Amino acid sequence: MSNSANTLPDRVPVLIAGGGPVGLTLSALLARQGVASHVIEADAAYCTGSRAICMSRRSQEILGWIGADAALVVKGLSWVGGRSYYRDTEVLHFQMPSEPTQRFAPMVNIQQYFVEQYAHEAALACGALSDVRWNHRVAAVRPDADTVMVDVVSETGTRQVCADWVVACDGGRSTVREQLGLQLQGMQYDGKYVIVDIRQKTRRAVERLAWFDPPSNPGSTILMHRQPEDVWRIDYQIRDDEDPAEAVKPENVLPRVQSHLAMIGENAPWEVLWISIYNAKCLTLASYRQGRVLLAGDAAHLVPIFGVRGLNSGLDDAGNLAWKLARVLEGRSDAGLLDSYSVERVHATHENMAYGAKSTEFMAPPDFAYALMREATLRLARNDASVRALINPRQSTPVSYAESPLNMAEGTAPWTSDLAAPGQPAPEATMPQGRHLTQSFGAGFVCLVFCSDDAPDLSPLADLSALGITMQPVPPSCAQAWQRYGLGTGVDAALVLVRPDGYVMGRWPGVDGVAMRKAIADSGVWP
Ligand SMILES: Cc1cc2nc3c(=O)[nH]c(=O)nc-3n(C[C@H](O)[C@H](O)[C@H](O)COP(=O)(O)OP(=O)(O)OC[C@H]3O[C@@H](n4cnc5c(N)ncnc54)[C@H](O)[C@@H]3O)c2cc1C
Repeated sequence: MSNSANTLPDRVPVLIAGGGPVGLTLSALLARQGVASHVIEADAAYCTGSRAICMSRRSQEILGWIGADAALVVKGLSWVGGRSYYRDTEVLHFQMPSEPTQRFAPMVNIQQYFVEQYAHEAALACGALSDVRWNHRVAAVRPDADTVMVDVVSETGTRQVCADWVVACDGGRSTVREQLGLQLQGMQYDGKYVIVDIRQKTRRAVERLAWFDPPSNPGSTILMHRQPEDVWRIDYQIRDDEDPAEAVKPENVLPRVQSHLAMIGENAPWEVLWISIYNAKCLTLASYRQGRVLLAGDAAHLVPIFGVRGLNSGLDDAGNLAWKLARVLEGRSDAGLLDSYSVERVHATHENMAYGAKSTEFMAPPDFAYALMREATLRLARNDASVRALINPRQSTPVSYAESPLNMAEGTAPWTSDLAAPGQPAPEATMPQGRHLTQSFGAGFVCLVFCSDDAPDLSPLADLSALGITMQPVPPSCAQAWQRYGLGTGVDAALVLVRPDGYVMGRWPGVDGVAMRKAIADSGVWP
């Protein structure tokens, strides 16, 4: 990858520290909002080795906002469920919610460097609005009330750049976070996992596979995921008394992998591509906004990989932040809007950590009592279907912002469902001509107009369009949407306001727009 000369402007609207998957996606999202950003990336190219592999449906939607979904779906391996085994007996076969007409599979397996590549290509497609500088490093940040001075180091020397806003996407060892004197708070688990990628051809279905105490590696827990290009990702737990440095040596890894492949009948030749070691962490900052510096992705939080909420939550950070930062930069909203980014995403991290902790504790019990409880659960699950829910790995799903300060007050209308209540991710639904409702989201505000007319007269709502809100009629023939958005007995016409990041902001019975206009006037988002 070529490295551009150090010709950074003296003054930039947005400087993104770190061109990993979150920084690159954020830059492309901002560009789609018409905002220029400069990405400063210390490395010369995309990441190497084995990191995130499971991309959630929500992440696919977010990547869809920048046009990076098609490449991801073509390259990736989609899946809907998995199997867990206790010793050599299957104790769980789970399926995530999915429909034949769905836009995206619940999960796609793909190596993280492909996600970075597709996000970068989406950024490049935005021309001058996204400028990525490889081999450039953020060395220092000095925020004041109106700007942030940033020292950027490259092979041609150090350059001072004055940014209106800095977003720290520089990962778990964030320089920006350290420069601000901030520390992640929380805990980390003792249990250690060896992460191994191997290349081996297989005809096995794409599923999440987990073994507890398998005969191939007694006492251990093993996870297997297929990835594109004939790659298996294998994660296995090492014993508490094992030296991690010894555990990652090929002479110790390869026999364990071979023993397990033999046990499950995968006998094709294989080669090892990657070995590393991992231990789960639940760490976060208390706030993701420090004046003119915002923090996103691993720079802001580290969550356990079990439940796959790391990169998936980082992309959600980017999706939440991009439209808010764009509005503030363009003077369409007050800077206070950015506080809601922190409130919503810190809440999401706490939810993700709670789920991730449950999954981690099941994968690697933290103490003897928990280990006994897990064994009892696994034994019972062999014959008792009701116990199997306890083993279900609870993969990443979008977090509700039910307490968000942006939610607009609810009236007393008798909605038949709360799936589309304020603060919820706007439900997906099929639309005419094979379209999906979520394809309308991701750029600006959308007002869903539910009414009995197939071609409603929207002119009475023209003043709302002038605020940058796009009207999206949803006729009764879109029965799935009517049902999921809670229309039916008692509500036969409604307006639902959806934020640019696909979350419901408010909903009102009727289509005259009176209550919605009042809520907008009171919201502070359109000052
Ligand atoms: C083994 C493993 C498995 C995982 N599996 C999953 C999974 O299946 N699903 C999932 O959602 N998540 C998973 N994760 C988590 C996921 O990898 C991270 O959450 C994700 O990489 C975070 O992206 P990021 O862009 O915030 O940070 P990073 O990917 O760490 O990127 C940060 C970037 O900043 C750059 N940088 C650092 N310092 C500076 C500086 N001073 N100046 C300029 N640039 C700098 C770095 O070079 C890097 O490119 C996994 C992680 C591991 C380790």
